[in-house]
Amino acid sequence: MTGCSLKGFMKMKVLVINAGSSSVKYYLYEMPQAEVVANGAVERVGEAVSKLTHCRDHQAHETPILALDVDDAMNLMFDTLVRSDIGVLRDLSEIGAVGHRVVHGGEEFTGSVVVDEQVVASIERYADLAPLHNPPNLAGIRAAEHRLPGVSQVACFDTAFHTTIPKVAYMYALPYDLYEKYHIRRYGFHGISHRYVARRAAAILGRGKYEINAITCHLGNGCSITAVKNGHSIDTSMGFTPLEGVPMGTRSGDLDPAILFYLVDKGYSAQSLKMLCNKDSGLLGISGLSNDIRNLLDLAGQGNERAALAIDVFCYRIRKYIGAYAAVLEPLDAIVFTGGIGENAVSLREHVCRNMTQLGVHFDARVNERAGGQETEISAAGSPVKVFVIPTNEQLAIAKDTYDLTTRRQVVASDGAA
Ligand code: ADP
Repeated sequence: MTGCSLKGFMKMKVLVINAGSSSVKYYLYEMPQAEVVANGAVERVGEAVSKLTHCRDHQAHETPILALDVDDAMNLMFDTLVRSDIGVLRDLSEIGAVGHRVVHGGEEFTGSVVVDEQVVASIERYADLAPLHNPPNLAGIRAAEHRLPGVSQVACFDTAFHTTIPKVAYMYALPYDLYEKYHIRRYGFHGISHRYVARRAAAILGRGKYEINAITCHLGNGCSITAVKNGHSIDTSMGFTPLEGVPMGTRSGDLDPAILFYLVDKGYSAQSLKMLCNKDSGLLGISGLSNDIRNLLDLAGQGNERAALAIDVFCYRIRKYIGAYAAVLEPLDAIVFTGGIGENAVSLREHVCRNMTQLGVHFDARVNERAGGQETEISAAGSPVKVFVIPTNEQLAIAKDTYDLTTRRQVVASDGAA
């Protein structure tokens, strides 16, 4: 490990990787000051032409490339980081540790963890529960191990923050042996984001990280809502998979499962129902127009009724989750909006929060309109429940966990179950 002491803290470059099936995103941080040295992405991995975007000194450099798989994408990233023209490192040995986003850690991982062969075996095992995500996450770990032998790798799980959810909230009312045999239960996702914004909300309120009750709404391409009690997740809208909960861009969210049996009787196959619920539903399904809330807001403004209906359903279902979680959080301190939609869709936040005074939410529409891109309170002065817009920063959370684990040499940063 490279590094030197700075006012008692070890200085270190931490590389953060989010390796998915079609893209690899990266951030190189100088820690502990959390300064982004470079960041970028290899997109359209596996397609005929992929694209590398590398940003340094606020300048983006785009290059068409060929990246057949995660391994190719990772190698292109490493080669770019040491390029003499746009690179930022003389040598890869300057990287002190690597943090990876890993989607599924099952019931096992209650926090981030330094990767060893046992951890790798577990991530492989949980690929059964996250077949689209854990394999590319693991390919990213393998590629980094290959290019940076001996450098610590840290896995940060999307499920870890939710391992504090009590059994009463994670059990489905199915035969108990399905839980024992197939581990069917609520796991929850987006945990790195929910944890980050809950901690920020506590800090804004001047409280310790375990001194807040909040409802955190991560609204992006995927959407999930979490009930946070005393800083811990106690319930979340996504379940066994990221399909459950509020409707999303193309995902249905909660459904009466009997609809699927009915469609099977009408001739739909399991595969086609999977596509229907994951790719053809949600905002796209209802509107028949777009999965992007920006388009729908524009179209609804022009009088398109289906666009307006999709937005109304989306907001109504978010309100219902907020109501449900307010009932299990006593007292409720804050509601937080984050993710691409939560951070940017001004009218949607108002739609969700207006007329919520019975929950103690006094919304300030004018402050809400001005909020953009930074942490802002959008509730009125004196509102018993504060409402915040807090931009998420999952990469920073991963960089911090990675830095903490590799410099303090703990085995597990147990932020979930602590
Ligand atoms: P992901 O969940 O993949 O991380 P994001 O959190 O970036 O995605 O959210 C992407 C979504 O955010 C887009 O589909 C779009 O609907 C929404 N979005 C992005 N920018 C805006 C904006 N300015 N106004 C409204 N919605 C936006």
